[in-house]
Amino acid sequence: MTAPLTSPLLGALDGYWDGRFQPRPSAPRIDVHDPATGAVIARVPTHGADEARLAVDSAARALASPLDRAARGRVLAAIEASLLEHRDALATILTTENGKPLAEARGEIEYAAGFFRDAATHLDALAPVTLAARPRGLTWQVHHRPAGVAALITPWNFPIGMLAKKLAGAIAAGCPSVVKPSELTPLSCIAWFTLLDGLGLPPGFVNLVFGDAPAIGAVFCSHPAVRVVSFTGSTAVGRLLAAQAAPNFKRLSLELGGNAPFLVFDDADVDLAVDALLTNKFRCGGQTCVCANRVYVGSGVADRFVDAVAARVRALVVGHGLDEGVAVGPLIDHKGVAKVTDHVRDAVARGARIVTGGVPAGGAFFPPTVLTGVTSEMRCANEETFGPVVAITAFDDEEAMVEAADATPYGLAAYVFTRDAAKAERVVARLHFGHVGVNTGSGPTPEAPFGGFRTSGVGREGGLEGVLEFIELQTVPHG
Ligand code: NAP
Repeated sequence: MTAPLTSPLLGALDGYWDGRFQPRPSAPRIDVHDPATGAVIARVPTHGADEARLAVDSAARALASPLDRAARGRVLAAIEASLLEHRDALATILTTENGKPLAEARGEIEYAAGFFRDAATHLDALAPVTLAARPRGLTWQVHHRPAGVAALITPWNFPIGMLAKKLAGAIAAGCPSVVKPSELTPLSCIAWFTLLDGLGLPPGFVNLVFGDAPAIGAVFCSHPAVRVVSFTGSTAVGRLLAAQAAPNFKRLSLELGGNAPFLVFDDADVDLAVDALLTNKFRCGGQTCVCANRVYVGSGVADRFVDAVAARVRALVVGHGLDEGVAVGPLIDHKGVAKVTDHVRDAVARGARIVTGGVPAGGAFFPPTVLTGVTSEMRCANEETFGPVVAITAFDDEEAMVEAADATPYGLAAYVFTRDAAKAERVVARLHFGHVGVNTGSGPTPEAPFGGFRTSGVGREGGLEGVLEFIELQTVPHG
């Protein structure tokens, strides 16, 4: 089935370098699908190593005429304004290729705009610094230089949001970028580049390729002009990129997978925890790196909590993201459904109980599901399920609950619900996660640094720290 997606923001569906879209008529094409219907909505050309090199070379030429901080500030403001102006058109494309509800897609564009607004506030911090002391009788200056070409690789779950985090930091730092979105969701990026093309940026300052991910990634990790490889995606691919980039000493910023625990202690405000879980868990159909993957509940409130969660989950409206009132869309593809199905089957085979949902609903849809009696050896407790499954374990012993929460190689996000502030402080300090919500299920915000501990990554996005990922410090003693 073919149902081409039309939009003024989607022209010839090409890559972008040297300041213009670059037709590749003879390149093999790949289909882009609407996951809700399975329809082919576009066919885009696939790029490989040659196009990646052209795009990096284009960025390297732009680096020769660096933008000063005032010019970067104008670019950041223009991108923020353009995202907000075209929010609805971009959100429609995003929902059609990703599946998430339209309101979420709109929220993603606003979230993305926030990274450009925030990055602009850090430009003053990049001014050269003269040390107050005069060691060795010399005047010492420290300059914040653009690190070089930035290669930005992004996943399909937030095609605009995840790119915004990287692009805003790179632009604030003065680094030209080469962007590689997921082949599952290239259209929102192409549409965004249509907007960027209209902003009069210097040629080569932003570039776009998509297609053969391993070939493109290999160029990013080996081309001498690329100094920062910023990647968001799975831990497996992050590990591969780290190995490829290591011999060339590229700076790496890796935002990888999570396995977020959500702890509800017996003294928690249960209604608040239920509300927070529903918002946190079902964003993008449960396909986010920060969503609760393991829910641990004190046995004193477990029955009440499970009943309340199940009632709310049964009421979630599942459907096409463009339809009014839909809260949960499809998963990204059949592979996503297969993984979620396997996790549920494995959990049931090992003794978990399905309270609601649990059976694939056809196509790329999986119903919002609640499991209880989840134990540590089940797959859903050890791997990201990346789907709409709430996996609940009840605990009699708070100490055991905290230990179980931290017993993972991952360390991205965690959540703690208790009315006892001192306990919250103690527990947060024992959780080796880069983001720990206390009495909130909130994920990251543009103003604060965000990133993982352990195998969830290295580096931070958002805030001044997200800009510094793209900066090299140059120290200049003056005699
Ligand atoms: P993925 O398979 O690792 O893909 C991510 C990106 O890497 C895509 O653009 C993909 O391209 C590309 N890629 C794949 N193989 C590559 C290679 N050999 N060299 C270079 N690039 C390569 O991850 P995903 O399934 O799209 O995303 C889900 C994962 O991202 C989850 O684990 C989630 O937790 C994580 N995530 C983390 C964060 C965070 O902030 N920490 C945020 C969002 C998502 P193609 O798609 O074209 O193959």
